[in-house]
Amino acid sequence: MPLHIQTPLIHSTALARAAGRTVRLKLECLQPPGSFKIRGIGAACEHYAREGARRFVSSSGGNAGLAVAYAGRLLGIAVTVVVPSSSSERARDLLRQEGAEVIVFGAGWQEANAHAQALLSPSDAFLHPFDNPLLWTGHASMVDEVAATGHKPGAVLLSVGGGGLLAGVMEGLARNGWGDVPVLAAETHGAASLHAAMQAGTRVELPTIDSLATSLGARQVCAQAFALSQTGKVRSVRVSDQEAVAACTRFLDDHRLLVEPACGAALAVAYGQHPALLEYEDILVIVCGGATASADNLRQWSERFAAT
Ligand SMILES: *Cc1c(COP(=O)(O)O)cnc(C)c1O
Repeated sequence: MPLHIQTPLIHSTALARAAGRTVRLKLECLQPPGSFKIRGIGAACEHYAREGARRFVSSSGGNAGLAVAYAGRLLGIAVTVVVPSSSSERARDLLRQEGAEVIVFGAGWQEANAHAQALLSPSDAFLHPFDNPLLWTGHASMVDEVAATGHKPGAVLLSVGGGGLLAGVMEGLARNGWGDVPVLAAETHGAASLHAAMQAGTRVELPTIDSLATSLGARQVCAQAFALSQTGKVRSVRVSDQEAVAACTRFLDDHRLLVEPACGAALAVAYGQHPALLEYEDILVIVCGGATASADNLRQWSERFAAT
């Protein structure tokens, strides 16, 4: 039994009207830990458990850490998550609710991650949030579920942080004979590490991340995501934080589902009728989800944008 669930695939009347074309939603926001990440992380955790890992270690205060904590609880394996002092109390609470040991260390993610690495003993498994082939193969299962319906999309729309989701979805498309389906890769302007790499023609490291879409905040995409971006099948699309937040609010009203701005980035492309959509009659949106934003957060961000 995998640790993730099979998620619903639904037609969205609201998004179809906004985007002017057929829109189907793969509802990864319904995974128990709140995002698609449990697919890949769950598969990786099962792999490490079979190899005898006694503890899982993560340095993610976001959805990757939550997925590790959830997987560890289900597998009966201890989990330690090292988060920086900049992490939210909400994130720490969510991790503790899943039974993880939370260690607060360092001002930022670099320090927390270095501390997590230093803690590792030979019987520990470290779970990277996106740069691990086990994760990509696990994420690919969401495409298997879509392919089982036999209904091939014209394009897939998804969000990109470090590129693990992109790598997994493209692996899934390839292994189902859908390797020709183009992928629209959405980022916010302040977290556009894939866009920067595609522009430069090489993997670049952003000096800073400046976005409310914290789950997209990888300063550099993984090598696999960059390599895939060079195949001609990936089109980069950027939206503003304001558009991402507005998309979350609209999606909450339309579908009664709360997602993070990281997911709102992809939704904003559809709601905004972005020119990148024009070629495709039938869009599959990966609703990647995210557990770290509350309805109150969304309201505060919207009010802040309304005031400026
Ligand atoms: C991790 C995450 C992403 C980005 O995934 P990558 O594999 O880092 O590209 C997008 N949305 C949510 C909600 C996430 O948790």
